[in-house]
Amino acid sequence: MLTVNAYAAPSATEPLVPTTIQRRDVGPKDVLVKIRYAGICHSDIHTVRGDWGPVQYPLTVGHEIVGEVVEVGDEVTKHAVGDRVGVGCMVNSCRECDSCRAGEEQYCTGGNVGTYASVDRDGTITQGGYSTHIVVDEDFVVHVPESIPYEAAAPLLCAGITTYSPLRHWKVGKGSRVAVIGLGGLGHMAVKLAHALGAEVTVLSQSLRKKDDGLRLGADHYFATSDPATFTDLVRSFDLIINTVSAPVDLDAYLRLLALNGTMVNVGAPPEALPIHVFTLFSSRASFAGSSIGGIRETQEMLDFCAEHGIASDVEVISADAINEAYERVLASDVRYRFVIDVSTIR
Ligand code: NAP
Ligand code: ZN
Ligand code: ZN
Repeated sequence: MLTVNAYAAPSATEPLVPTTIQRRDVGPKDVLVKIRYAGICHSDIHTVRGDWGPVQYPLTVGHEIVGEVVEVGDEVTKHAVGDRVGVGCMVNSCRECDSCRAGEEQYCTGGNVGTYASVDRDGTITQGGYSTHIVVDEDFVVHVPESIPYEAAAPLLCAGITTYSPLRHWKVGKGSRVAVIGLGGLGHMAVKLAHALGAEVTVLSQSLRKKDDGLRLGADHYFATSDPATFTDLVRSFDLIINTVSAPVDLDAYLRLLALNGTMVNVGAPPEALPIHVFTLFSSRASFAGSSIGGIRETQEMLDFCAEHGIASDVEVISADAINEAYERVLASDVRYRFVIDVSTIR
C-alpha cells in the first residue's frame, strides 16, 4: 500500500481537509499516476454533500485527473513511465456486458466502478483525484496530447467528454442548431465543442453577465433565461438542447424551444425528479433524453479532437487550501469556467 496526501470531506456538512489516503500496490495491469492537476466538477460537490444519497466518509473526490505515469505493472502495454495521461469518472467496469463490449463502459449493466465513492474490486471505496497519486487499471487511463497544457486538459476528462458524447450521438455538425443551458464547467465545453463541430450555438444563461465570454468561447447567440421573451422569441428554434444545469429547471419551457424532431438532452444532474407534460413533446415530436459521461474510447477521441481543434478548458488554477471557497463559488454560478487544483499544493 502507498500512503498519499489528499483532501477529503469528513462529512456532508464540513469543509474538506488535508489528510492521507491509501492507494493499492501497483498490480500487473495497473499504472501509478503522479497527479498534476484535478478539476472541480459540480458532481464532486453533489457527492460530498450527499445530494445524490449517502456516501461513506471521509471521502476524497475528483474525477478530472491529469498527470504523468511514474510506475507501470509487468503486463502494462498501453502506457509507459513519463507518459502524460488522464483519468476520468470511471476506473473499471465488468468488460463483458453489451455496453462494455460496445466501448460504452459508462452504461455497464453491472455498474462501472466510479473514480470515487464506488466499491472497488477489492471491496474498498474508491477515492478520487484531490490527491497526489492514483493507481488505475491501464484500460481506464487515456493519453493527454502534448499540445494541451495539463491544467487546461484536466476538465476535459469529465466536462469535455460529458458534452462531446451527446454532441456526437445526436450527430451535431454543420447546419445543426444547438442550445446550451448554463454556462458553467460543462456548458462552456459544450459551446466550444459544438462550435468546433460546425453548429450554430446559442447559450441560454440565467443572465447576460457572461455574454462576452460566451461569444468568445464560440457561441453565435446568447439569451438570458430570466427574460420571459427568451421563451417566446425562441420557440421551435433548436435541433438539440443540452441542459447542463445542476438544479431543477422548467423542462416544458425549454422543450417548446425544440424544432420538429428535436431532442433535449439532460446532462445536468439535480437530485429531484423533474416533471414534463407529454403534450409539450407532442407539439414537435420532441425527445427528452439523458446522457452519462462517455466511454474510454470516446474520451480518447475527444482529447484528440480537442488537440486537433486547439480546444481546452478555460480554467482558474487554485491551491488546495482554496477548494472550499471554490465550492461556494461554483454553487453561486461564479466559475469561469472550471476550477482546477494544482495538486503540488496538497501537502
Ligand atoms: P457548474 O459549473 O456549476 O455549471 C452549472 C451552470 O448551470 C451554472 O454555471 C449556471 O450557469 C447554471 N445554473 C446553476 N444553478 C442554476 C439554477 N438554479 N437555475 C438555472 N441555472 C443554473 O456545474 P458543472 O460542473 O458544469 O455540472 C453541471 C451539472 O452536470 C451538475 O449537476 C453535475 O453533477 C452534472 N454532471 C453530469 C454528468 C453526466 O455524466 N451526465 C457529468 C458531469 C457533471 P449560468 O450562470 O450560465 O446560468
Ligand atoms: Zn464530473
Ligand atoms: Zn459492463
